[in-house]
Amino acid sequence: MEYYGSQIGKLIEELSRLPGIGPKSAGRLAFHMINMPKEQVEELAKAMLDARNNVRYCKECYTLTDDELCPVCASSERDHGTIMVVETSRDLAAYEKTGKYNGVYHVLQGAISPMLGIGPSDIKLKELMERLRGDVEEVIIATNSSLEGETTAMYISKLIKPTGIKVSRIASGVPVGGDLEYIDEVTLLRALEGRTQI
Ligand code: ZN
Repeated sequence: MEYYGSQIGKLIEELSRLPGIGPKSAGRLAFHMINMPKEQVEELAKAMLDARNNVRYCKECYTLTDDELCPVCASSERDHGTIMVVETSRDLAAYEKTGKYNGVYHVLQGAISPMLGIGPSDIKLKELMERLRGDVEEVIIATNSSLEGETTAMYISKLIKPTGIKVSRIASGVPVGGDLEYIDEVTLLRALEGRTQI
């Protein structure tokens, strides 16, 4: 990349480290950036730094937020006795977009994957169990229908069973191996409404 000069080369190298960005896209983005108005580049850099520095986990549900509590956990309008367990903050966002779910969430920040060496202690499972000591009526497990998501769902339901709290799993309207965030709202709602007790 020397023929671009070291500064552009460095920019391309850094951009190509991002997920889903190959060397070609990185090059395109880099050349786009150096042609952008300076203020716009500064805004972009500032937004990245601000997000990185200020975003943290909600102390209740572990979604990413910039306050101590995320807007869902902070809301008294939500049903705090119903907890939907999802893998990522993006999954939470997908359900929030439907505008039809009134409970709260618990974001595991991952899923159990023996193949990748991710065990129960590597996700926010202990934190979920702690929350269940409070007033909780139902836990809806909405992990993805991938192998990891199903393994995680099974593991969680076994953990919760002895507590007597109702545990349900979203219906299989979600295609096998499907990532929640790419599924349309109607399918998500159908999966939620068709949940079965496990
Ligand atoms: Zn929260």
